[in-house]
Amino acid sequence: MIKSTKVPIYEIFFSFQGEGLYTGLAQIFVRFAGCNLKCNYCDTSYSTIISRKAKYLTDEELINKICLLYKQNKKTFLSLAPDKPSVSFTGGEPLIYVDFLKAVLPKLKEKGFSVYLETNGTLSQNLKKVIKFCDIVSMDFKFISECKKSFWKEHKDFLKIAIDNVLVKVFVKCVITNSTNVSEIKKSASIINTILKETPLILQPSIDKNIPAIQNLYKFYTAAKKIIPNVHLMIQMHKFYKIR
Ligand code: SF4
Repeated sequence: MIKSTKVPIYEIFFSFQGEGLYTGLAQIFVRFAGCNLKCNYCDTSYSTIISRKAKYLTDEELINKICLLYKQNKKTFLSLAPDKPSVSFTGGEPLIYVDFLKAVLPKLKEKGFSVYLETNGTLSQNLKKVIKFCDIVSMDFKFISECKKSFWKEHKDFLKIAIDNVLVKVFVKCVITNSTNVSEIKKSASIINTILKETPLILQPSIDKNIPAIQNLYKFYTAAKKIIPNVHLMIQMHKFYKIR
């Protein structure tokens, strides 16, 4: 008998999406432990390292937990989100466990859930293996000013794979801090412009660390808007209300 692989999961909980285009959507969140990056502004540093708090689960164990949580919150789901219940895979970085996702996502889809992938947008080859099971991809663009390295090529490849799957809804987010510079925003908008210019770009000002100056937000928004049409300036609601 083949033994199922276990992966570290920091928490599974029911809440509302706190950022991006689907802010306010009732979801089940699966937060993996572990990440391939180390951003200065990381709000989940507890989950980027695999601590003893993480629980190791098999695909079947995770699916059972998701189904149980759904059952416990079914009334809320049906009243707030009457369509397919949505499961957000977040982290850390979910795509570092791509083989595990390959086992979990199709089974969840069969059970009637929709899949929301929250990712740092750097592991394009892993995305390729699971994109057909995703309904929404929320990808980040990471900047050298906060993440120690540029990932322009990785982000471009990643966005292309996501966009090529026409059934998947895709948007890009980037965290704006006082270290962000306008060339990073212009480059982000230019990459989107070369792939699908209508792709939404969400500019998310940091509200707790290295807070950006308000005049920079205006400058960044107008710079992006000159290149692509769909730019939004939005704060992360869960951070504002200090909820998970
Ligand atoms: S990619 Fe996300 S989870 Fe990973 S270190 Fe950066 S902010 Fe944290």
